[in-house]
Amino acid sequence: MEDRKRIVVKVGTSTVCHPNGAPNLRRIEKLCRTLSDLKNTGHEIILVTSGAIGAGTHKMKLESRPKSIAGRQAAAAVGQCELMSIYDRFFLDYGSLTGQILLTKGITENETGRKNVIATLNALLEMQVIPIINENDSVATEEIVYGDNDTLSAVVAAAAKADLLVLLSDIEGLFDTDPTLYPDAQLISIVHDYDKAREAASGSHSEHGTGGMITKIHAATIAREAGIETVLTSGADPNVLYDICEGVSVGTLFTVKEEES
Ligand code: GLU
Repeated sequence: MEDRKRIVVKVGTSTVCHPNGAPNLRRIEKLCRTLSDLKNTGHEIILVTSGAIGAGTHKMKLESRPKSIAGRQAAAAVGQCELMSIYDRFFLDYGSLTGQILLTKGITENETGRKNVIATLNALLEMQVIPIINENDSVATEEIVYGDNDTLSAVVAAAAKADLLVLLSDIEGLFDTDPTLYPDAQLISIVHDYDKAREAASGSHSEHGTGGMITKIHAATIAREAGIETVLTSGADPNVLYDICEGVSVGTLFTVKEEES
Protein backbone atom coordinates (compact mmCIF):
# COMPACT_ATOMS: atom_id res chain seq x y z
CA MET A 1 0.00 0.00 0.00
CA GLU A 2 2.83 2.36 0.95
CA ASP A 3 3.91 2.94 -2.64
CA ARG A 4 0.34 3.76 -3.70
CA LYS A 5 -0.57 5.94 -0.77
CA ARG A 6 -1.61 9.23 -2.37
CA ILE A 7 -3.98 8.58 -5.24
CA VAL A 8 -5.65 10.95 -7.67
CA VAL A 9 -8.82 9.40 -9.08
CA LYS A 10 -10.43 11.03 -12.09
CA VAL A 11 -13.99 10.15 -13.05
CA GLY A 12 -15.42 11.11 -16.41
CA THR A 13 -18.90 12.35 -17.19
CA SER A 14 -19.89 8.95 -18.57
CA THR A 15 -18.96 7.40 -15.21
CA VAL A 16 -20.89 9.79 -12.96
CA CYS A 17 -23.80 10.69 -15.24
CA HIS A 18 -26.37 8.66 -17.12
CA PRO A 19 -26.48 9.17 -20.89
CA ASN A 20 -29.18 11.84 -20.39
CA GLY A 21 -26.85 13.77 -18.05
CA ALA A 22 -28.70 12.88 -14.84
CA PRO A 23 -26.32 11.96 -12.01
CA ASN A 24 -25.75 8.21 -11.78
CA LEU A 25 -26.55 7.96 -8.07
CA ARG A 26 -25.84 4.25 -7.71
CA ARG A 27 -22.38 4.68 -9.27
CA ILE A 28 -21.57 7.85 -7.33
CA GLU A 29 -22.62 6.25 -4.07
CA LYS A 30 -20.41 3.23 -4.72
CA LEU A 31 -17.55 5.51 -5.64
CA CYS A 32 -17.93 7.51 -2.43
CA ARG A 33 -18.10 4.34 -0.35
CA THR A 34 -15.00 2.82 -1.97
CA LEU A 35 -12.98 6.02 -1.71
CA SER A 36 -14.00 6.49 1.94
CA ASP A 37 -13.01 2.91 2.67
CA LEU A 38 -9.63 3.40 1.01
CA LYS A 39 -9.14 6.59 3.00
CA ASN A 40 -9.93 4.64 6.16
CA THR A 41 -7.11 2.22 5.35
CA GLY A 42 -4.60 5.05 5.10
CA HIS A 43 -4.77 6.18 1.49
CA GLU A 44 -4.89 9.85 0.68
CA ILE A 45 -7.56 10.41 -1.94
CA ILE A 46 -7.99 13.32 -4.32
CA LEU A 47 -11.04 13.10 -6.58
CA VAL A 48 -11.15 14.93 -9.91
CA THR A 49 -14.66 14.84 -11.26
CA SER A 50 -16.30 15.79 -14.52
CA GLY A 51 -20.01 15.91 -15.00
CA ALA A 52 -20.85 19.53 -14.19
CA ILE A 53 -22.03 20.43 -17.66
CA GLY A 54 -23.87 17.12 -18.10
CA ALA A 55 -25.62 17.41 -14.73
CA GLY A 56 -26.52 21.07 -15.35
CA THR A 57 -27.88 20.27 -18.80
CA HIS A 58 -30.14 17.66 -17.26
CA LYS A 59 -31.17 19.76 -14.27
CA MET A 60 -32.17 22.70 -16.46
CA LYS A 61 -34.09 20.32 -18.71
CA LEU A 62 -32.14 21.40 -21.78
CA GLU A 63 -32.43 19.13 -24.80
CA SER A 64 -28.66 18.77 -25.23
CA ARG A 65 -25.40 20.33 -24.04
CA PRO A 66 -25.62 24.03 -24.95
CA LYS A 67 -23.74 24.91 -28.12
CA SER A 68 -22.59 28.35 -26.97
CA ILE A 69 -19.72 28.75 -24.53
CA ALA A 70 -21.83 30.96 -22.25
CA GLY A 71 -24.58 28.34 -22.31
CA ARG A 72 -22.16 25.59 -21.29
CA GLN A 73 -20.74 27.82 -18.58
CA ALA A 74 -24.23 28.39 -17.23
CA ALA A 75 -24.92 24.65 -17.31
CA ALA A 76 -21.63 24.02 -15.48
CA ALA A 77 -22.56 26.59 -12.79
CA VAL A 78 -25.83 24.77 -12.11
CA GLY A 79 -24.40 21.26 -12.49
CA GLN A 80 -21.36 21.85 -10.29
CA CYS A 81 -23.64 22.68 -7.31
CA GLU A 82 -25.71 19.61 -8.00
CA LEU A 83 -22.67 17.35 -8.24
CA MET A 84 -21.07 18.68 -5.07
CA SER A 85 -24.24 18.39 -3.11
CA ILE A 86 -24.53 14.71 -4.13
CA TYR A 87 -20.87 13.98 -3.39
CA ASP A 88 -21.05 15.78 -0.07
CA ARG A 89 -24.08 13.78 1.06
CA PHE A 90 -22.81 10.37 -0.02
CA PHE A 91 -19.31 10.94 1.34
CA LEU A 92 -20.81 12.10 4.63
CA ASP A 93 -22.86 8.88 4.79
CA TYR A 94 -19.55 7.02 4.81
CA GLY A 95 -17.91 9.34 7.33
CA SER A 96 -15.81 11.43 4.94
CA LEU A 97 -15.62 15.19 4.72
CA THR A 98 -15.14 16.81 1.32
CA GLY A 99 -13.86 20.15 0.09
CA GLN A 100 -14.38 21.62 -3.36
CA ILE A 101 -11.53 23.11 -5.36
CA LEU A 102 -12.30 24.63 -8.75
CA LEU A 103 -9.20 25.21 -10.84
CA THR A 104 -8.36 27.01 -14.03
CA LYS A 105 -5.36 26.59 -16.27
CA GLY A 106 -4.36 30.13 -15.27
CA ILE A 107 -4.14 29.16 -11.60
CA THR A 108 -2.21 25.93 -12.08
CA GLU A 109 0.26 27.54 -14.50
CA ASN A 110 0.93 30.52 -12.24
CA GLU A 111 3.70 29.89 -9.72
CA THR A 112 1.97 31.51 -6.76
CA GLY A 113 -1.40 30.03 -7.67
CA ARG A 114 0.14 26.58 -7.98
CA LYS A 115 1.88 26.90 -4.61
CA ASN A 116 -1.39 27.92 -2.97
CA VAL A 117 -3.25 25.02 -4.53
CA ILE A 118 -0.59 22.57 -3.33
CA ALA A 119 -0.70 24.02 0.20
CA THR A 120 -4.51 23.79 0.28
CA LEU A 121 -4.50 20.22 -1.03
CA ASN A 122 -1.93 19.17 1.56
CA ALA A 123 -3.84 20.89 4.36
CA LEU A 124 -7.10 19.20 3.34
CA LEU A 125 -5.46 15.78 3.16
CA GLU A 126 -3.80 16.30 6.52
CA MET A 127 -7.23 17.16 7.96
CA GLN A 128 -8.62 13.90 6.51
CA VAL A 129 -10.77 15.76 3.98
CA ILE A 130 -11.22 14.42 0.45
CA PRO A 131 -10.56 17.26 -2.03
CA ILE A 132 -12.98 17.20 -4.97
CA ILE A 133 -11.63 19.03 -7.96
CA ASN A 134 -13.10 20.19 -11.24
CA GLU A 135 -12.13 22.82 -13.72
CA ASN A 136 -13.89 26.10 -13.02
CA ASP A 137 -15.91 25.72 -16.19
CA SER A 138 -18.05 28.77 -15.52
CA VAL A 139 -15.10 31.12 -15.88
CA ALA A 140 -12.48 29.07 -17.73
CA THR A 141 -13.44 29.37 -21.38
CA GLU A 142 -10.19 27.78 -22.48
CA GLU A 143 -11.08 24.60 -20.57
CA ILE A 144 -14.33 24.09 -22.36
CA VAL A 145 -12.93 24.88 -25.74
CA TYR A 146 -9.57 23.06 -25.50
CA GLY A 147 -9.27 21.45 -22.13
CA ASP A 148 -10.33 18.28 -20.41
CA ASN A 149 -10.23 16.78 -16.95
CA ASP A 150 -7.80 14.03 -17.96
CA THR A 151 -5.11 16.65 -18.36
CA LEU A 152 -6.27 18.51 -15.26
CA SER A 153 -6.07 15.35 -13.16
CA ALA A 154 -2.50 14.72 -14.32
CA VAL A 155 -1.53 18.31 -13.51
CA VAL A 156 -3.08 17.85 -10.06
CA ALA A 157 -1.30 14.50 -9.57
CA ALA A 158 2.03 16.10 -10.45
CA ALA A 159 1.40 19.13 -8.20
CA ALA A 160 0.31 16.93 -5.29
CA LYS A 161 3.22 14.54 -5.83
CA ALA A 162 0.75 11.69 -5.99
CA ASP A 163 1.87 8.08 -6.04
CA LEU A 164 -0.67 7.06 -8.65
CA LEU A 165 -3.15 8.55 -11.13
CA VAL A 166 -6.28 6.53 -11.91
CA LEU A 167 -8.44 7.51 -14.88
CA LEU A 168 -11.87 5.90 -14.60
CA SER A 169 -13.54 5.99 -17.98
CA ASP A 170 -16.21 4.30 -20.09
CA ILE A 171 -13.61 2.00 -21.67
CA GLU A 172 -11.66 -0.93 -20.16
CA GLY A 173 -8.31 0.54 -21.11
CA LEU A 174 -6.20 1.16 -24.19
CA PHE A 175 -6.81 -1.26 -27.05
CA ASP A 176 -4.59 -2.03 -30.03
CA THR A 177 -7.39 -0.81 -32.28
CA ASP A 178 -10.78 0.85 -31.76
CA PRO A 179 -12.89 -1.74 -29.84
CA THR A 180 -16.13 -0.02 -30.85
CA LEU A 181 -15.33 -0.81 -34.50
CA TYR A 182 -13.32 -4.05 -34.16
CA PRO A 183 -14.69 -6.62 -31.69
CA ASP A 184 -11.40 -8.55 -31.72
CA ALA A 185 -9.45 -5.51 -30.47
CA GLN A 186 -6.94 -6.51 -27.78
CA LEU A 187 -6.51 -4.71 -24.48
CA ILE A 188 -2.97 -3.42 -23.94
CA SER A 189 -2.32 -4.13 -20.27
CA ILE A 190 0.98 -2.27 -19.94
CA VAL A 191 2.37 0.69 -21.85
CA HIS A 192 6.08 1.49 -21.84
CA ASP A 193 6.23 3.28 -25.18
CA TYR A 194 3.85 6.24 -25.08
CA ASP A 195 4.40 7.08 -28.77
CA LYS A 196 3.27 3.60 -29.78
CA ALA A 197 0.28 3.98 -27.45
CA ARG A 198 -0.65 7.21 -29.20
CA GLU A 199 -0.66 5.34 -32.52
CA ALA A 200 -2.94 2.65 -31.10
CA ALA A 201 -5.38 5.21 -29.72
CA SER A 202 -8.42 5.81 -31.82
CA GLY A 203 -9.16 9.25 -30.40
CA SER A 204 -12.80 8.27 -30.22
CA HIS A 205 -14.95 10.47 -28.00
CA SER A 206 -17.65 9.48 -25.59
CA GLU A 207 -20.83 11.45 -26.05
CA HIS A 208 -20.86 13.37 -22.80
CA GLY A 209 -17.24 14.06 -21.92
CA THR A 210 -14.66 16.10 -23.76
CA GLY A 211 -11.78 13.65 -23.35
CA GLY A 212 -10.87 10.91 -25.82
CA MET A 213 -8.12 8.30 -25.74
CA ILE A 214 -5.52 10.79 -26.94
CA THR A 215 -6.16 13.06 -23.95
CA LYS A 216 -5.72 10.04 -21.66
CA ILE A 217 -2.32 9.31 -23.14
CA HIS A 218 -1.48 13.00 -22.88
CA ALA A 219 -2.45 12.88 -19.19
CA ALA A 220 -0.36 9.74 -18.63
CA THR A 221 2.57 11.52 -20.28
CA ILE A 222 2.30 14.49 -17.90
CA ALA A 223 2.11 12.07 -14.97
CA ARG A 224 5.10 10.10 -16.22
CA GLU A 225 7.19 13.27 -16.45
CA ALA A 226 6.46 13.68 -12.73
CA GLY A 227 7.40 10.04 -12.06
CA ILE A 228 3.79 8.93 -11.56
CA GLU A 229 2.20 5.82 -13.06
CA THR A 230 -1.29 5.98 -14.53
CA VAL A 231 -3.96 3.29 -14.59
CA LEU A 232 -6.72 3.67 -17.17
CA THR A 233 -9.74 1.46 -16.67
CA SER A 234 -13.52 1.37 -16.67
CA GLY A 235 -15.35 3.19 -13.90
CA ALA A 236 -18.43 0.98 -14.27
CA ASP A 237 -17.63 -0.72 -10.97
CA PRO A 238 -15.74 1.56 -8.57
CA ASN A 239 -14.70 -1.55 -6.57
CA VAL A 240 -11.94 -1.83 -9.16
CA LEU A 241 -10.11 0.77 -7.06
CA TYR A 242 -9.44 -1.88 -4.39
CA ASP A 243 -7.62 -4.03 -6.96
CA ILE A 244 -5.65 -1.06 -8.21
CA CYS A 245 -4.55 -0.13 -4.70
CA GLU A 246 -3.44 -3.70 -4.11
CA GLY A 247 -1.37 -3.67 -7.29
CA VAL A 248 -3.62 -6.12 -9.18
CA SER A 249 -3.37 -5.61 -12.94
CA VAL A 250 -6.53 -4.01 -14.33
CA GLY A 251 -7.09 -1.99 -17.48
CA THR A 252 -3.96 -0.37 -18.85
CA LEU A 253 -0.97 0.58 -16.72
CA PHE A 254 1.15 3.39 -18.12
CA THR A 255 4.44 2.66 -16.49
CA VAL A 256 7.24 5.09 -15.70
CA LYS A 257 9.85 2.37 -16.14
CA GLU A 258 11.64 1.58 -19.37
CA GLU A 259 10.72 -1.73 -20.95
CA GLU A 260 12.91 -4.59 -19.72
CA SER A 261 14.84 -6.10 -22.60
N1 GLU B 1 -15.18 19.94 -16.56
C1 GLU B 1 -16.18 19.38 -17.40
C2 GLU B 1 -17.45 19.07 -16.59
O1 GLU B 1 -17.40 18.96 -15.38
C3 GLU B 1 -15.78 18.11 -18.09
C4 GLU B 1 -14.44 18.06 -18.73
C5 GLU B 1 -14.16 16.66 -19.27
O2 GLU B 1 -15.11 15.97 -19.69
O3 GLU B 1 -13.01 16.23 -19.28
O4 GLU B 1 -18.49 18.91 -17.13
